[in-house]
Amino acid sequence: MIEQKELIKQIQAYNPDLKAEVIERAYDYAKKMHGSQTRASGEPYYTHPVEVASILADMRMDTATIVTAILHDTLEDTETTIDDLKSSFGDEVARLVNGVSKLTRIEGQTVEGKQAENFRKLVLAMSEDIRVLLVKLADRLHNMRTLHHIEKPEKRRRIARETIEIYTPLAERIGLHKIKEELEDLSFGHLNPEARESITNRLSFLRKEGTTIVKTIIKSMQQILKEVDIEAEITGREKTRYSIWRKMQRKNVSFEQLSDIMAFRVVVNSVEECYHTLGITHSHYPTVPGRFKDYISTPKPNGYRSIHTTVIGPENQRIEIQIRTEDMHKEADLGVAAHWAYKDGSIKRAFKDIKQYRWMRELLDIIEQEAKPEEFLENTKMELFQDKVYAFSPKGDLIELPNSATPIDFAYAVHSAVGDKCVGAKINGRIAPLNSKLSNGDQIEIITSKNQTPSPTWERFVVTGKARSHIRRFIRQQQRGEYLTLGKAMLEKIFQKEGYQFTDKAVNGIVNQFRAENIDDIFAGIGSGNIVARDVFKAIFPGHKSEIAKKPTDAEAELAIQNRKPETGQALPIKGLIAGMAMHFARCCHPLPGDRIVGIVATGKGVTIHTIDCDTLENFADTPERWLDVSWDEGPDAPESHVGRLEITIANEPGVLGTISTVIGINGGNITNLKITSRSLDFWDMLIDVYVNDTKHLNNIIAALRATPQIATVDRARGR
Ligand code: MN
Repeated sequence: MIEQKELIKQIQAYNPDLKAEVIERAYDYAKKMHGSQTRASGEPYYTHPVEVASILADMRMDTATIVTAILHDTLEDTETTIDDLKSSFGDEVARLVNGVSKLTRIEGQTVEGKQAENFRKLVLAMSEDIRVLLVKLADRLHNMRTLHHIEKPEKRRRIARETIEIYTPLAERIGLHKIKEELEDLSFGHLNPEARESITNRLSFLRKEGTTIVKTIIKSMQQILKEVDIEAEITGREKTRYSIWRKMQRKNVSFEQLSDIMAFRVVVNSVEECYHTLGITHSHYPTVPGRFKDYISTPKPNGYRSIHTTVIGPENQRIEIQIRTEDMHKEADLGVAAHWAYKDGSIKRAFKDIKQYRWMRELLDIIEQEAKPEEFLENTKMELFQDKVYAFSPKGDLIELPNSATPIDFAYAVHSAVGDKCVGAKINGRIAPLNSKLSNGDQIEIITSKNQTPSPTWERFVVTGKARSHIRRFIRQQQRGEYLTLGKAMLEKIFQKEGYQFTDKAVNGIVNQFRAENIDDIFAGIGSGNIVARDVFKAIFPGHKSEIAKKPTDAEAELAIQNRKPETGQALPIKGLIAGMAMHFARCCHPLPGDRIVGIVATGKGVTIHTIDCDTLENFADTPERWLDVSWDEGPDAPESHVGRLEITIANEPGVLGTISTVIGINGGNITNLKITSRSLDFWDMLIDVYVNDTKHLNNIIAALRATPQIATVDRARGR
């Protein structure tokens, strides 16, 4: 437990100008307000904010941040109000404490929708002032350090998971490397204690055996650097248990097979010496190809600078080496916090001036465009977790993208207007399909056309939140137009049936009732199925007795069922349906006789038939009551043709469309629809609907198309 005096001493060590009085006042205030509250450990509650302040003092934070840390739980857990804080500690501290409280409120939310909304708030809150996040991370660190006091294992695991999913990526993003590693290690201990334990044991065994190896390597490196007059501080350290475990998972190897668990750090005096050291190291030891990274000339987005390389060391072992200067070294541990730390008594560096915040502005950009918080969470989480790929623009600008990024992602990363207008891409000088996966070091040239708009099919393969949100926004706008027209037509039809003249004015009167902004929202809502057209009609004419809406008698219903025909106008080809239910084939998977199928009951829409492997079925995983066991009826009444859908990529050559239709025709198929889904200079993607008898028939056609030279790929389309 840290006492007031110790904390003040700790701050004065780096900030001799500190007015101890502020800290004393904050300390006394927190102690008084938290009163008899206790922690799970049994300690008085106020010890927690003081510990958090001490973590931030370790990071040499400015006084406002430290005071905020001491007061960080007063708004949320005590009678304190913002005005109290303002009058006692000033606007800056009050604002910061309020920011931290906002983040605190969002913790421990388990409902997915809520969590997503909260994550959005979290990013917004911290974007106002990064120190809010610094305090929150220090708070989380102390809570993780004391997590073992919490009794319920589920609660510990939930907190640990939240830490690893949200807080460690954030810490990494702002460059708080040390804190990230500690948070990870602590979470790891609660989430997978056995794995951590076994890695710990293995490491200590190796340590006993291998101390000499580390010394040998350090000595040998010092030797070769001394020969060229470079003064270097060389340290060797084990990688963290969590990163070792992650690597074992990723590469699917055992601990014994992991060759590089040691990392060496060489700290030298200047940037020139960094490169000199690199050259010397590479000339003395064989290098491991593909492992060299120069973060000095192109720093990571979080500001991290260093040279990384891997060589085969003196003991014939792979060793990873990081080369950097003293300044870079300090920044590597503190990251963004370094900008708030005391330097020669001054700390002022405005948030918006710091280049490293680009990612945060990008997040905000995404927030503004996402209509649904779930999408935002999905996009963000996804990005924070994926490993990176680095690609270059023709001018040599480096663009950092998540793994599996495509030229479309690259285009949007350059500028959203470039993404929107993208028609094609050259990878390393050669035209490539827009869904190609980029590799490290690729040079990408984006070809644009002012007539292009984002294609919905892009969404299937893009991986960055930015690209996805732009494409979705475009689709939403386009869809809204379609829904609007459809919804209006639906409503007009009801008016007509019931004998009323349709006017916009009539709808205007019930806009508020449906919590819509205007009548367009109502129309779009009807069109998209979120609002029932008849409900709108009823709201407009509450007293109206409808002939149509009247419930049919049993006899009428019976008759209706007898007369009912499936949508295709053909006899029912499916066995196992409940009598009287309408049936249609799912447009996502286009089931064909020969496919294994399942029926899904949709309220008010009858039964939809899907293939058993259709991705859409995942949506119904937790409503088994809607699943119907069905099969194809091969009887004499079974219809003869069904629509099969093909997904084809062709080389853009004259006559190729003619060839396709000939091949399909020869094989007894009949094209009913053809849609080009994306077009680049050299490749066209298209969807072709073909009337076929069954899967076997479709497979024959696929085989014939695959044998055709101009056709790059042919597959049965799934899920669209
Ligand atoms: Mn706290």
